[in-house]
Amino acid sequence: MTAPTGAAGASPFDPIGDMLGRVRAEFAGDDSGAMADYIPQLSTADPAAFGLALAGVSGAVYEAGDAGTPFTIQSISKPFACALALADAGVDEVLARVGVEPSGEAFNAVSLEPGTGRPDNPLINAGAILTSSLVAGTGPEERFARILDLLSRCAGRDLVVDDAVFTSEHDTGDRNRALAHLMRAAGSLTVAVDEAVDVYFRQCSVLVTAADLAVMGATLANGGVNPRTGSAAMDQAVAEQVLTVMATCGMYDFSGEWLFRVGLPAKSGVSGGLMAVSPSQFGIGMYSPRLDERGNSVRGVEASRAISERFSLHAMHQVTRSGPSFVRVAPDGSEWPVGPRAAAAGRGRRPCAGPVDAGLHRVRHGRAGTPDRAAAHRRPRGPFGGGRRPRPCDPVPTRAEALAHLAGTT
Ligand code: GLN
Repeated sequence: MTAPTGAAGASPFDPIGDMLGRVRAEFAGDDSGAMADYIPQLSTADPAAFGLALAGVSGAVYEAGDAGTPFTIQSISKPFACALALADAGVDEVLARVGVEPSGEAFNAVSLEPGTGRPDNPLINAGAILTSSLVAGTGPEERFARILDLLSRCAGRDLVVDDAVFTSEHDTGDRNRALAHLMRAAGSLTVAVDEAVDVYFRQCSVLVTAADLAVMGATLANGGVNPRTGSAAMDQAVAEQVLTVMATCGMYDFSGEWLFRVGLPAKSGVSGGLMAVSPSQFGIGMYSPRLDERGNSVRGVEASRAISERFSLHAMHQVTRSGPSFVRVAPDGSEWPVGPRAAAAGRGRRPCAGPVDAGLHRVRHGRAGTPDRAAAHRRPRGPFGGGRRPRPCDPVPTRAEALAHLAGTT
């Protein structure tokens, strides 16, 4: 458990970090799956590494395990390069060149429309090579510099390339070159093959941590504004478009089952990273390098599923029926996960109406462990500042209640 970073006046009481730690402990023993080795440098990572992080739209970040361990972003760069292409070229031009249909095939498949060479979507390799080529720039250096700048703005810090991974992928990337040649021959790729794959290999080789992925996800959740820096990385409309493609295509040929079981827009990468987003609420970043047969992190998928189920995060879940939303934020910066069990326990709480139901639940709280219940009826300060006046709503759970939720005994 790590104290939240970036929350004003954060208290050591950290139920979300605690929750992440519990989920980590639950799945740390699973050593199934295999590391990617088709990019040889990836197989040098520590297979046991397992980090989880959650970043709220408040900017608070919670971590467990190896959340600060660097790894290359790989395919999780794809939604961000797509965002830049959408911003630069516009929706119509991008959709004319690449689809938004789940391919149902492996990430490196030749999923190209017969005749046109149009890839199925921007989150498989072919589509990503193409969308990166649509990023504005005088040449590959400028295109990559702009992608790196966007990734950095979403992470809230200056990211760098892992040269060893870049070289390793460059030296073994014949399949991606072949995809680019096919698209070039069909006319869908209009820049030179070497330039296109160079930008793509570099964007895949950018180093991030699980905590970075959480903040990047929170930026998408927050309408394109990085909640830690306040910097607008992309327009809200673009963030929504990217989240939509992540929801349908983000997990390769597992995308349908992922949405069915976990219900969150997400993107995975072959180094073992996974970013999931609860729109308007938070981003989750995970890192565990052993992959399943589809190229998704085994523990990342299992941990995401557990968190989603336990806290009713599925996008299709009807919030009002089951009660309070996932997270409550107190002005001291502590955030409280609240699961459906509390509502099921039937304490006569009534759900809050309005924005609090759709997003982080902003409830005034005295100090950790001694809830100021009357404060739930006053205007909130704290990490979100004022702005929205919450309606009187559920009593804030006591520390004992919150810990009981986490232990699963309520
Ligand atoms: N760089 C990797 C590749 O092109 C990205 C694939 C992935 O993360 N799924 O093969």
